[in-house]
Amino acid sequence: MDFDARLPEMTALLRELVEIESPSHDKPAVDRMAARIAEECRQRGAQVEIVPETDAGNQVIARWRPASPPDPQRARPILLLSHMDTVFPLGTLAKMPFLEREGKIYGPGVSDMKGGIVVALTALAALNAGRLTRPVTALFTPDEEIGSRVSRPLIEDLARQAALALVLEPGLPDGALKTWRKGVGEFTVRVRGRAAHAGGDHEKGRNAIEELAHQVIAIQRLTDYRRGTTLNVGLIRGGTASNVVPDEAVAEIDLRVMQPGEAERIAAALHALRPVLDGVQIEVTGGLNRPPMPFDDRMKAAFEKVKAIAAGLSLELKAGGTGGGSDANFVAALGIPVLDGLGPAGEGYHSEREYIFADSLVERARLLAAILEAWE
Ligand SMILES: [Zn+2]
Repeated sequence: MDFDARLPEMTALLRELVEIESPSHDKPAVDRMAARIAEECRQRGAQVEIVPETDAGNQVIARWRPASPPDPQRARPILLLSHMDTVFPLGTLAKMPFLEREGKIYGPGVSDMKGGIVVALTALAALNAGRLTRPVTALFTPDEEIGSRVSRPLIEDLARQAALALVLEPGLPDGALKTWRKGVGEFTVRVRGRAAHAGGDHEKGRNAIEELAHQVIAIQRLTDYRRGTTLNVGLIRGGTASNVVPDEAVAEIDLRVMQPGEAERIAAALHALRPVLDGVQIEVTGGLNRPPMPFDDRMKAAFEKVKAIAAGLSLELKAGGTGGGSDANFVAALGIPVLDGLGPAGEGYHSEREYIFADSLVERARLLAAILEAWE
């Protein structure tokens, strides 16, 4: 399979997908992406289903089947997971256009993860010309960048049927796969005090901001780098004016955990927070959104298999990881082998510096096709 010759066509498709801007919260925009991807999958030989959604863009399921029935050990599909949404609002393209320069490709979503979508579609088109030996299901989701609340049930449903899941999120800058990811949680701590005039009735007030200040210190101290557990009070708000004792203050907290069980331990600690001042109340809400994806024995075994397949293509594949979550976290929690970061290598995602290496588009398509062909 000559993937080098496909680079111009891959770049052209990437440009087209980048220029269909698709911010997560804009349903009509994500729906346009879904329609375009559905059409592209049909042209590449898939049976396509568009799953309508009301609270997010529509989802696309594309199924490729081998020309002849697969061997029994290859009957379960490999699942490819890609998300169509980006973090960039409509109009970003005007100041951050699609651009190819010195071996790099820039533009909103080139790396996260329209480059990965192009890799998946290219590998499948190449295999569909008679080389597919097992079923492959590709799911394109609309809301990964905002927590995958709408797509999670479908991701989990398709993952349970799969022999392996491959996630087309960006590769690390050196091309390493993402073999571990931290779990991600969000909590809100709300303090209620009592309002009073800051001059006339100071002693009758209960200052919610003062209480929250105590709690912020306690919350940050739950961070344990040794265990890979971090808490970040990332946003606080409270009060109405300097001459009013504030009756409410709120903190929003990001939690990252590496080890199973840590999220429960931290949630318990947050719920056990007690007021320091008399007469105030603390309310804690939230929880873990994405479970952790540790580099455990199952992940190591899956990585070693893919590493051997890559070696057959003279590629030296490394195992890496990140504190950020993705849809791979949901799959890992089900006990299904999953490898992430199969999209092109690049850097700067979620920023105006976002780029991929053009070479990596070709290399990843070659690698993905080889995995789909060789995975037992
Ligand atoms: Zn992504």
